Amino acid sequence: MSQPTQPQNIDHNEPDVHSFAKPEEAIITHIHLNLNVDFDKHLLMGFAKINFKNLTGADRLILDTRDLEISRITQGDDERDVKFTFGDEVKFLGKALNIFVDKGVSLVTIYYKTAPDAAALMWLTPEQTAGKQFPFMFSQSQAILARTWVPCQDGPGVKFTYSADITCPSNLMALMSAENDTLVHKDGKYHFNMPQPISSYLMAIAVGDVRFHAFGKNTGVYAEPVMLERCIYEFEDMQKMVDAAGELYGEYAWGRYDVIVLPPSFPFGGMENPRLTFATPTIIAGDRSLVALVAHELAHSWSGNLVTNATWNDFWLNEGFTMYFENRIMEKLYGSDYADILDVLGFNELESTVKELGDTSADTHLYLQLKDRDPDDGMNDIAYIKGQFFLKTIESVVGREKMDVFLKKYFSEHAFQSMNTAKFIAYLNENLIHGDTAVANKIKMNDWIFGPGIPSNSFRVNSVLLEKAASQAKAFMAGALPKELETKGWSTHEWLQFLRSLPEGLSKDQIAALDKKFHFTNSGNCEILCDWFQHTIASSYLPAEAQLELFLTNVGRRKFIVPLYKALVKTQEGKAFATKVYAHARVGYHSVAQQTIDDLLK
Ligand SMILES: [Zn+2]
Repeated sequence: MSQPTQPQNIDHNEPDVHSFAKPEEAIITHIHLNLNVDFDKHLLMGFAKINFKNLTGADRLILDTRDLEISRITQGDDERDVKFTFGDEVKFLGKALNIFVDKGVSLVTIYYKTAPDAAALMWLTPEQTAGKQFPFMFSQSQAILARTWVPCQDGPGVKFTYSADITCPSNLMALMSAENDTLVHKDGKYHFNMPQPISSYLMAIAVGDVRFHAFGKNTGVYAEPVMLERCIYEFEDMQKMVDAAGELYGEYAWGRYDVIVLPPSFPFGGMENPRLTFATPTIIAGDRSLVALVAHELAHSWSGNLVTNATWNDFWLNEGFTMYFENRIMEKLYGSDYADILDVLGFNELESTVKELGDTSADTHLYLQLKDRDPDDGMNDIAYIKGQFFLKTIESVVGREKMDVFLKKYFSEHAFQSMNTAKFIAYLNENLIHGDTAVANKIKMNDWIFGPGIPSNSFRVNSVLLEKAASQAKAFMAGALPKELETKGWSTHEWLQFLRSLPEGLSKDQIAALDKKFHFTNSGNCEILCDWFQHTIASSYLPAEAQLELFLTNVGRRKFIVPLYKALVKTQEGKAFATKVYAHARVGYHSVAQQTIDDLLK
């Protein structure tokens, strides 16, 4: 259902409600970090040299900070002490840092250390890694957590270059979203350079016992030594993906494209840190069935990293475009049947998200209203899949050829710039719709961007393979035995469709029969486990409980653990079990996952 909507009057230069900075007065151009990685105290310590342009002769440079301990700030090359003050602490946002600079000054140096519980940083014990021998640390800066480890203008609309000197324990490798070396440095000293301007949420660091493997001329993977072989197998097509993406929407702009596979506490599937995607090990399924995630993070090299959402209200401009692009890469590499499977599963997820949020909810608009909220709240399927289907709908109206010309031009004309919803609408009107009211009426742009739910004109996809999988679920519910089901040659996605087509609340006998034949409880595939455990939880199937506990303890990817905790809290025994597991699992989750589960178990 979709209500009639009016075009809203949105500001072309909307201020970023999640940053204290005033980049229109004084804007950062480069940050040089010099940090020591202290695994004993769980902190980063050193200084940040910040170059900025004072555009208006402002008396201060305003930066975002959260939980940073600042000991001294100087100005100029000769490091004269300078006065600074903090604004009031605001939930999620931290505190403004006002640095009162002299006229003509364009450099400040901030001496600081991070808090041991800095929200962006995750410090892992050796036991929490695959190799079990060395500690590991990584950052997750999106959406507004960069300010917990780097004082900066922490809004996606501000772009700057950066460089860094990082010192870490001598046996470990340090990596950043920058030009990386591929070898371990015996002295623990690493230098980084990111010559292209990026937004703060794309600053990233990881330190651990990792090794590198190159795939092709500009692609490769970093992973813990015990994981490396499996990662090499899983990502073998990476170079082909980069080449295919470039053929679609223009040359890859960032030099190398590498992936680091992190320990399982990483809260997301992947994070598109430029030059170095951070990825969850839960995509290493052993059969390359989950590599669409790499296509997704790679696609962000255009949509997000190159053309960046100006504020988090415009998040769909990052994610909707990336989902559309991801699917085009998958189609180019693996054919349209496979791409359709991914689309159908995605659309089904979108439908259930809309159902959960309510089909009149403002949170189902593409353009979000996140003022006074943690922008992390906006990161549900809507920006991703509704955004993707908006673009697919446009494609179905104008045709693929025109769509591709439009997108290629969009990326090249806005490279290294930011984009907000109002600007995009104007650009779309000017470059694709050209005032053609028949086309505009078919696209129904306002219904998508400012209206709730899934608009009635949405493009729809079918997949014969998934329909067959769903029909087997039906057959089972009608009394067929598991051994009578036609499941030969099924891929991960057909299994997922099968599990998702089974009703909630199967009898214990039904669950046991399925498990006996298909061994879901002991599957090595996290996607299948996540769907399966939702059935075992709904049916209070005790034989799966030990594996469920193990899964919740070892995996910190929010996409998996949130639905499982949600399913558990529906009953009293479930909630008791969830609380018991969470008591020891929590320490293994990143802060963004902790925050979500804390709220669920309140
Ligand atoms: Zn994404």
